[in-house]
Amino acid sequence: MIKGILDRSGVIARGIFEDFKQLLSPPLCIGCDGDLADNDPVFCESCLESLKSKCRGVRPICPFCGRLDSTRKNNGCCSRSSAIRLYYWGRYEDEMVEYILKFKFHGVLELGIRLTNEALNQLGELLRKNDYDYVIPVPLHGRRQRRREYNQSEIIARTVSRTIGAEYIPDSIFRVRSTKQQAKIHYENERWENVENAFSLLSKKGVDFVGRRVLIVDDIVTTGATVYEVSRPIREQNPDRVDVFSLAYAG
Ligand SMILES: [Zn+2]
Ligand SMILES: [Zn+2]
Repeated sequence: MIKGILDRSGVIARGIFEDFKQLLSPPLCIGCDGDLADNDPVFCESCLESLKSKCRGVRPICPFCGRLDSTRKNNGCCSRSSAIRLYYWGRYEDEMVEYILKFKFHGVLELGIRLTNEALNQLGELLRKNDYDYVIPVPLHGRRQRRREYNQSEIIARTVSRTIGAEYIPDSIFRVRSTKQQAKIHYENERWENVENAFSLLSKKGVDFVGRRVLIVDDIVTTGATVYEVSRPIREQNPDRVDVFSLAYAG
């Protein structure tokens, strides 16, 4: 408890220090500490250029095997007509790793919003064509969210829903039990076991998924286990389809 308070005051003190530093010096590019491009609050020209060149997900893939949608007949996991498509922006490599970690663990929320907007500049049109009704973020477990103070998937999902004109529903799915962080588990089958049946529908919210199109949002997709489990209670309600959007794909 005391340690928690000390940690928090450390974070606050650091936050104040960072604010103070920013007052004294002009903000710099988050990628290279160089001068920002004109009218850009986050990136310099070359970092932005490099980031844009990382866009890969202009065609959806199967989140479980990474194959392109068009080759779905080749593999069991993506051959069912109810197969989940993954729309993602870039591979989880190079500066994407650094940016997503800064966004997720160091509270640089504006970076998360900016990455999402860059992704939507390239993928928004594609997503709009699918006419999604609902956008749902992967929920954090209550305890983890309290520690981190925000859920990165919610921030991405809110931005996505606004851009594609679908309803944002953050509280319809919840974690019924605490799970380990997927990134800390090395074996694929253990990742699947870790999240199996970990999510449930909050029925009193009364969201009806029958015949609806749902887009689940996470920051990174690796094995697809988490998003599959989040989709499970939704798919039990016979939606028209369930797809996934992520900033990065690490599979
Ligand atoms: Zn830069
Ligand atoms: Zn597949």
